[in-house]
Amino acid sequence: MLKISQPDYAALRKHGEETYPHECCGVLLGKMDDGVRVVKETVRCGNTRSDSPENRYNIDPQELIPAQRKAREQGMDIIGFYHSHPDHPARWSNTDLQEAHWFACSYVITSVEMGIASRTHSFVLAGVGEEDKRFEDENIEVA
Ligand SMILES: [Zn+2]
Repeated sequence: MLKISQPDYAALRKHGEETYPHECCGVLLGKMDDGVRVVKETVRCGNTRSDSPENRYNIDPQELIPAQRKAREQGMDIIGFYHSHPDHPARWSNTDLQEAHWFACSYVITSVEMGIASRTHSFVLAGVGEEDKRFEDENIEVA
């Protein structure tokens, strides 16, 4: 399960509206608490994919490093990532799975229809390696 505060939840959805018709992306910082990923902070990142920004996203490694440092300093970890799907369902794509490498992290996807955030779903990257990795549905609890 992914636990997120209403302001953080609203912020990641709003980010998708702001970058529409392009995908937005960002990092979720927080803690694991009894098998629950608890989001403490969302960090916006720029989408480095200029070839196809409406259906691809890539977080610049240069942006991940400070996010990771910030997390460590505050006793947190990177517990997930989020991105938007402009005019597409909030389901992961094959590309999303191929490009996901953070096991046991949450991948949150928000569908943005005509510029308005609609559904938001979360998926956990399960498995132990590239051969058997898969996304599993995860509940989001907005507190
Ligand atoms: Zn995607």
